[in-house]
Amino acid sequence: MSTSNKPQNTILNNQQQNIFLSSDEDSDKDDEIIFMDEDYVDIENTPDLGINQTQINLDRWKVIIADDEPDVHRATQIALDNLIFESKPVVFVSAYSGEECKQLINLHTDAALILLDVVMETNDAGLRLVKYIREELDNHQIRIVLRTGNSGEAPEDSVILNYDINDYKLKVDLTRQNLLTTLLASLRAYRDIITIEHQKIKLAQALEKLQESQIQLEEYAFTLEKKIAERTSALETANLKLLRLATIDGLTQVANRRCFDEYWLQQWILLQEEKQPLSLILMDVDYFKNYNDHYGHLAGDECLRQIAQGISKLLMRPQDLVARYGGEEFVVILPHTPIEGAKKVAEGIISIIYDLNLIHAESQVSDRVTLSIGVACVVPNDDLSWEVPISLADRALYQAKQGGRNRIVLAR
Ligand code: GH3
Ligand code: MG
Ligand code: MG
Repeated sequence: MSTSNKPQNTILNNQQQNIFLSSDEDSDKDDEIIFMDEDYVDIENTPDLGINQTQINLDRWKVIIADDEPDVHRATQIALDNLIFESKPVVFVSAYSGEECKQLINLHTDAALILLDVVMETNDAGLRLVKYIREELDNHQIRIVLRTGNSGEAPEDSVILNYDINDYKLKVDLTRQNLLTTLLASLRAYRDIITIEHQKIKLAQALEKLQESQIQLEEYAFTLEKKIAERTSALETANLKLLRLATIDGLTQVANRRCFDEYWLQQWILLQEEKQPLSLILMDVDYFKNYNDHYGHLAGDECLRQIAQGISKLLMRPQDLVARYGGEEFVVILPHTPIEGAKKVAEGIISIIYDLNLIHAESQVSDRVTLSIGVACVVPNDDLSWEVPISLADRALYQAKQGGRNRIVLAR
């Protein structure tokens, strides 16, 4: 639709009333009101855009005239002929009964205003239509101006109270000027409602996007937390491995010497405070040099592994510790254990090594691998060095060797 023929500076030249319209000088005003040339908009042929209630018809303002008197339609259209409000033409849709109006209103869901007669096919056809529009169609956007020729059928007081209408006019009062004022006020109200509806939709969309972003953010945080947990767990595993490497003897998979030293000191201090006995078992494989010479170094390694694991399985309390003390020597720390208890453990070790049945053809004391064991027990105190029980056990072990091997000597 070309606007080239749209007059910019027009005075309504129709019939009796004079309405001043926008001019260039008034161009700073918000609303632009002009009347078009007669052929400016072809109302009959203007297609229905089928826009729903929450969308404003951007091309034109639709006004439904519902009245059973054809003269009223004519008069209204003549009075408001070729009207343009905010750059959009006002177009009219005519209904001659309440029923027809129902159909049209369903067709023109984007109608901005209905100029509604009260008495049509029934005395209250207009009022019923108000209820239908507001309650059944739930259309609260369209502006409803009730026009009645006979206020007796619809007294203004009760109608304005009981029906959701926006204005009430007596037909006799509707001069051309009044009609225009009513129409423009209604269009502005409709425009504002639609604008608010649009903003509500935009706001809802923005809110939805925000919620989506929030969900994404939460998912991201969750993924991040998961990743952190995975990394932490991997780090812990790596740390454990490192700790293991630092504390476990590679060949026998029991604690190494360093671990023994640390744990021994730790228990020494603890049991000194508790004044509880701390036992130490020191063991040495008998004739192990011969074993290596006879069976080979690898067989010797395997033998050490089995001895270490055998002792390890025997120790049931979590605070007991077996360690490789060096070479073919092993050591067991038994916190809270008096000498009798340590002796029992030492006997258990002798027995379990015997049961391993590690054949040792070159041993001079047995047909299988045996251990010599020295056992010491002290209650740690200020006057004693932590090295004392180690020396005692070492001396006892030496005595066990001297005494013929494959035996236990308790340090006294
Ligand atoms: P004794 O009964 O007096 O203890 O005699 P022994 O032969 O066991 O003692 P000696 O100290 O003479 O020999 C210890 C042997 O233990 C020598 C060494 O090669 C061997 N040995 C120490 N560590 C390992 C090891 O990790 N693997 C193997 N296969 N042998 C080891
Ligand atoms: Mg030795
Ligand atoms: Mg030995």
